[in-house]
Amino acid sequence: MKADIERKVKQTIEKYKLLSKKDKVLVACSGGKDSTTVLFLLNKFGYDVEALFIDLFIGKYSEKNKEDVERFCSELGVKLHEVSVKDVVGYSVCYLKSVLKSKGCNLKSCAICGAVKRHILNRYAKRLKKTKLVTGHNLDDEAQSFVMNLLKDRMDLSLRLGPKTGVVEEKGFVPRVKPLYFCAEKDVEEFSRLMKFPVVYDSCPCSVDAFRRDVGRFLDKLERDAPGIKLRIVDYFLERMPRSKKRLGKLGYCENCGEPCSGKVCNVCGMVGLLGGKKRKVYK
Ligand code: AMP
Ligand code: ZN
Repeated sequence: MKADIERKVKQTIEKYKLLSKKDKVLVACSGGKDSTTVLFLLNKFGYDVEALFIDLFIGKYSEKNKEDVERFCSELGVKLHEVSVKDVVGYSVCYLKSVLKSKGCNLKSCAICGAVKRHILNRYAKRLKKTKLVTGHNLDDEAQSFVMNLLKDRMDLSLRLGPKTGVVEEKGFVPRVKPLYFCAEKDVEEFSRLMKFPVVYDSCPCSVDAFRRDVGRFLDKLERDAPGIKLRIVDYFLERMPRSKKRLGKLGYCENCGEPCSGKVCNVCGMVGLLGGKKRKVYK
């Protein structure tokens, strides 16, 4: 079992050329089983890794995650960087959500949190001069996201998926890679429990995305009835994705923070701007 996950992760890295030993790798560590597993394995395989934890200020949940990540990195001897969401965007995710709602913008916490996390991860990966950014996304996350986008008729969003992310090759993006891409969530959990990693197994208390949960349950049921279906979903997507990506145009840069984006300002500056928040310095 332990060997299966290791083999799968190695094969994914090789097949999709996700990482090389020359890369300076930043692993986005949430304190959950997936990112803890991927940090452990990349460190074991001899990659040059450092970790980044974003404090999202989700009460006791974030406090425990932070404690676990600090302990795990210190045990592994991996350098850990910590950043607070309030320092970067000026607000906690819960505050952003409630004020945006009062202004008529009814985004789900997970959508806001996801945009904020992607923004911070890319900014810090550049600031720390990293050449690759690793996340702990697994097979279940990817199959769910693809089906959700399909059902919402937002296939444009699926272009962000795949073992190597980035809608277009763009110098403002540090390539984001997902070594657990072909690992089922239940296998990662089993590995993490066997290894006795210090992690929280509960889901985030803010994650009330009923649609993702329903799609997840639906796929779990299909997987029980027709084993291998999640893998077939991502295979289908991987086969078609390169053609769709080619049809996309070039990105510009946010006039506020300098991050790559398709409009004048990026999603995060757009949200903060709605709140009347201060403009943030452009940095390079
Ligand atoms: P999620 O968006 O919660 O499904 O998490 C997906 C991936 O994003 C995780 O596997 C981590 O690699 C990364 N991530 C999520 N939350 C954090 C966090 N608070 N700090 C650093 N990385 C995170
Ligand atoms: Zn911006």
